[in-house]
This record gives sequence, C-alpha cells and structure tokens, in this order.
Amino acid sequence: MQSEKKTRYNYQGINLHCTGRKGLTYMKKIILTGDRPTGRLHVGHYVGSLRRRVELQNSGEYDDIYIMIADAQALTDNFDNPDKVRNNISEVALDYMSCGLDPEKSTLLVQSYISELTELTFYYMNLVTVSRLKRNPTVKTEINMRGFHTSIPVGFFTYPISQAADITAFKATTVPVGDDQLPMLEQAREIVRSFNSTYDEVLVEPKALLPDNEACMRLPGTDGKAKMSKSLGNCIYLSDPPDEIRKKVMSMYTDPDHIRVEDPGKLEGNCVFTYLDAFCREDHFEHHLPEYSCLDELKSHYTKGGLGDVKVKKFLYAVLMEELEPIQARRHELEKDIPAVMEILHKGSQKARETAAQTLSEVKHAMKIDYFG
Ligand code: ATP
Ligand code: MG
Repeated sequence: MQSEKKTRYNYQGINLHCTGRKGLTYMKKIILTGDRPTGRLHVGHYVGSLRRRVELQNSGEYDDIYIMIADAQALTDNFDNPDKVRNNISEVALDYMSCGLDPEKSTLLVQSYISELTELTFYYMNLVTVSRLKRNPTVKTEINMRGFHTSIPVGFFTYPISQAADITAFKATTVPVGDDQLPMLEQAREIVRSFNSTYDEVLVEPKALLPDNEACMRLPGTDGKAKMSKSLGNCIYLSDPPDEIRKKVMSMYTDPDHIRVEDPGKLEGNCVFTYLDAFCREDHFEHHLPEYSCLDELKSHYTKGGLGDVKVKKFLYAVLMEELEPIQARRHELEKDIPAVMEILHKGSQKARETAAQTLSEVKHAMKIDYFG
C-alpha cells in the first residue's frame, strides 16, 4: 500500500495539483453550499447566499456545483419533529429552482441520502477536541437561542464536523455563505489540514465566499434582531403572498425615537434602511420614488428630519416585490408538479453519492482501513 504524496499550488488564480507520478494537473473549481429544511427560504438566504449562487452557476467558471438540502443537520435540533423536516424538503427545492438554480447546471441533493457523509463525520471526529467545538461562536449563539443550556444534543454540538464532511466529500474549493458560517468554514479547514498532515493529502481546503455588501452578510430580522432566521420567526419568506409581505414591511422595526415626520431619524439598527442597502438599485428610484436619485439622498433626508417611515416602507415594499414577483411566478409553475421536483432531488442525490463514495474510499485508503481492496 504505497502512499503518493501530493502538493497543491495556485498559479495566477488557477489551482494546480502536483502528484509525484502525474506531474501538474488542473484542480477543479467546485462549489458546495446548502440550507437546512427547517422552513421555506427567506430574503436573508436570498441576499446572503442564494442570489450569489445563481450568479456563480451562470458564470460558467465552476466545474461542479453541489447544492445540498441539509436534512440530517436540521434533525440535530429538530429530531422530535421529523414531519417539519420532511415537508420542507420540496419547499426548499422549490425556492432553489424559482430563484434560478438550474438542475442541469447544479446538482441538487439531499444530505441524508448520502450515508458516506455520516461515515466521514465519524472519522473526522477524531481530529477535533471538545474544547475546540465549545469555542465555536455561532454554535454558542445557537445553543442560547434554542435554550439548550446544559442539555445540548451531541449531534447538534458536533454539527460543524458533519458540515466539514459535507464540504470535503465533494472536494469543494468555494462555499458561498453568510458570515454566520465563517466559524464552520474555519473548522472545516482545520480538519482538512489535520487529516492531510496525519494521513495523506486527500482533502481540499475550502474558502468561504461572502456577499460583498455588508447588509447581505447577515440580514437582520423584521423585528430588528441581529439575524433573520427561521428559528426566530422574524422572516420575510420568498414565497410569502404580497399582502403578507406588505404587512411585514409596514410593521418593521425602524427608529423608535422617530415619532413625528419632522423628527430626525437614525439609520443604525433601522432595518428598513438595512434592507434597502441589500436590495435597492438606482433604477428603483426612477420607477418607484423619482423625487430621490439614490439611497444616500433618501438617507440624508431621513437623518435630517422631514421624511416619514411610511413613505420609506412603501418604497421598500415596491423594491422587494420587483425582485420577488418573477421568483414567485416561477414557484407557482413548479408547485404544479411536486413529484417532478422530488425526482430532480433523487437524481441529484444519486450523482452526488458517487462523488462522496469516491472521496470516502480515498479517505479510508489514507487511513489504512481499506483491508479488502
Ligand atoms: P435555522 O434557523 O434553521 O438555522 P437559518 O434561517 O439560519 O435557519 P440556514 O439554513 O441555517 O438558515 O442558513 C443557510 C444559509 O443562508 C447559510 O449560508 C447562511 O449563512 C445564510 N443565511 C441564513 N440567514 C441569513 C441572514 N439573515 N442573512 C444572510 N445570510 C443568511
Ligand atoms: Mg442557521
């Protein structure tokens, strides 16, 4: 059983891979990302990750794109509610495709179908300490949010390791995510380094790809809380009916001291303006609020005083609906044939499983546990 040492290089942005025997070979550019099927997807997902995924998919720059519905991860904190997870599989797939993820170009898969991921997780667990897991700031926040305190399910506590298995099984180089996922990416990179130095250069270190606009990294909830999140019930869902979106926008958290129109208003923590930062383009003013030419002008009028919340909220509603209308129209079409949606997921999962099985066999070879060939 001879192990072949490998080295990776980056030459002018092109990833190269040097093995003793084959010399320099091109290293594929691969994306892996996903969402937990704990609800329909919301506008935080859209600006934080989904919109970018579609652009990357259509750029043609990536060799493979895997989009995962992380049902096994969703069960780590919803183990007693399997119906919720099951029912949201097709909901998330509908959101994906209505936003423009195309199963011809991106592989859409369901995590639990690929049992190789669980096996990888088990081997990676040896490479991570309990104290390292305890330091993960996102997991800490989520434990508090869910009120787990001292009764933290082991599966939930260790989900950063399973996420490392998801990423590395597909040898992903790029992971487009919101900034709450940075600690997970760091954990995955540490596991890769530890595995490669302990056994052999099998795994690939992934890089996070964050949104370039600060407001999109972590879109706040409609209640002004730090993050829009399914678990906090402060979301505008991509598939909410227009009336519901209007209601949510009109009751959004702004500046509690901005009582009369003539009062000067604050922008910090005012989520109506954060949402405009995430969604608004200059042409939106031309169509929906022509007395202003850009967002800076609107902001400066608000901070000086003389601009009421209702007017800004009506503008935000128009901006949101301009973006969401075509998405919702596509969703209505796709909803007519759910079995076809499930078949797309089944095919994608089968294809993804082959890739994960290949990585697992390399991992087992490197760990010297491939006794029977
Ligand atoms: P849950 O409450 O079940 O954890 P969630 O709303 O946090 O759900 P996830 O499925 O955990 O959603 O997140 C999927 C992806 O969407 C991740 O890349 C995450 O960074 C991104 N994301 C989630 N919420 C936001 C948000 N409010 N702003 C920006 N990105 C977000
Ligand atoms: Mg989350």
